[in-house]
Amino acid sequence: MGDLCVLIDRRDRRYLVRLTPGEKFHGTYGWIECDALIGQPPGLRARTSKGDTMAIYRPTLEDYVLLMPRAAQIVTPKDLAFIPYWADIFPGATVVEAGVGSGALTLALLRAVGVEGRVIAYELREEFANRARKNIEAWSDGLASRVELRLGDVNVELAGISGIDRVILDLPEPWATVPAAAPALVPGGIMLAYLPNTRQVDRLALAFLDHPAFAPPEVCEALVRPWVADRERLRPSLRMVSHSGFLVRARRRPAR
Ligand code: SAH
Repeated sequence: MGDLCVLIDRRDRRYLVRLTPGEKFHGTYGWIECDALIGQPPGLRARTSKGDTMAIYRPTLEDYVLLMPRAAQIVTPKDLAFIPYWADIFPGATVVEAGVGSGALTLALLRAVGVEGRVIAYELREEFANRARKNIEAWSDGLASRVELRLGDVNVELAGISGIDRVILDLPEPWATVPAAAPALVPGGIMLAYLPNTRQVDRLALAFLDHPAFAPPEVCEALVRPWVADRERLRPSLRMVSHSGFLVRARRRPAR
């Protein structure tokens, strides 16, 4: 497979392109031959057939996640950044994740667990699992070797495993996972769920409060306000993601 690039035009439109010999990239402001880019060091400018210049970089993980094909709605970048920290995903951790959807959160978790860690990721729907597998494998820095992508219901599959450091959920009914997550988690382990709706937050918070193996839950949301910064203006941009999901976390209590 050729290298992945992100091509950025003068309007800041971004295109994810895999450099393939003999092929052309076609954008709004003309085309560029892939052959002119192959073998070049990353971070350059290229001229299109219409005389425009485009900046060409290796994609950041954020570029990639926003441009990769989607099966389900992805976790937004502000949450992808905060979840690994708030769930204390550490290098070497063993993490269970569900559902996988498009694989955006999986990629963030795979980075955080490092070369010694692993993510066991469950997805109910085969077509989503296949999409996520392709997305993870196409991201080219070897993260795919740290993931075990399994088809199945996390509530059933968790029953057979133990020694899990973290359980990270982006699915509609995470309270149903609480009974199976408790014995699977190591003492001190953390379960975190991403939830769009406060009714879900309430239900999960109560499930944690009712379960003797979990310490009282904590709830938060991450808000990021982007700014415009050019020669004339330095101010908040007019639009922001005002809501995506709430985060709920709880710790597995010590064994005794
Ligand atoms: N976090 C993903 C998006 C997940 S969308 C991303 O960032 O790309 C929610 C997914 O959960 C859906 O694909 C759905 O099929 C899956 N799902 C729902 N309930 C599940 C369960 N009990 N076990 C495994 N997967 C489940």
